[in-house]
Amino acid sequence: MSEIERNLAQVQQKISAAAQRCGRSSEEVTLLAVSKTKPASALAEAIAAGQRAFGENYVQEGVEKILHFRQRGVEGLQWHFIGPLQSNKSRLVAEHFDWCHTVDRLRIASRLSDQRPDNLPPLNVLIQINISDEQSKSGIPLSELDALAAQVSQLPRVQLRGLMAIPAPEPDYERQFAVARQMAVAFNELKSRYPSVDTLSLGMTDDMEAAIAAGSTMVRIGTAIFGARDYTRHTEQ
Ligand SMILES: *Cc1c(COP(=O)(O)O)cnc(C)c1O
Repeated sequence: MSEIERNLAQVQQKISAAAQRCGRSSEEVTLLAVSKTKPASALAEAIAAGQRAFGENYVQEGVEKILHFRQRGVEGLQWHFIGPLQSNKSRLVAEHFDWCHTVDRLRIASRLSDQRPDNLPPLNVLIQINISDEQSKSGIPLSELDALAAQVSQLPRVQLRGLMAIPAPEPDYERQFAVARQMAVAFNELKSRYPSVDTLSLGMTDDMEAAIAAGSTMVRIGTAIFGARDYTRHTEQ
């Protein structure tokens, strides 16, 4: 068994345990393997172990990996763009990815909709919420969610699937849970108004238990699967 395969099994077990503790089924929680900075060979190991959904933060790097596996005829993979998105890179995301988690303004959502090729299903999008209200992070405040959701839901070539957040790092479980709960409340409210909404993308290696307890349906896990990241050879912004 490869190390990545072992790590994946461990993470899956943690997800199951966390779900069980709060009376949820582990099938309600999708594991997104965050593979940024990792080589295609690492993803191939995860694929061999049964992993299908991958999250990438850098457009160019993500597209290279998507093409790598497409050229080798590997089917059934699901690609999620989870990094900050600049307008000039939106076309590559619209043309190659299945999901974009980081929609935080109408302009980007409109571009993604306009640029989504006709032969592909609508791009699945999540609205990113700046839940910890940090100046440096992207995402909108919850107070702006209703207005943006109403606009995004009107776009023809994107489908509003839910919300995403990257809470500020916080070691204390109770405080992780409190923040995650705020997201879950907003998510449930959105879900009651839009039938297409079914995804709350919340929880990383260090806070996934609290996120699952609060109601996350998709955890984004990098380090616990692929090990620590090395950014030194990483030049793309
Ligand atoms: C890198 C990253 C992750 C994964 O973080 P880990 O702590 O390595 O699990 C999840 N979500 C986003 C948006 C990221 O950029």
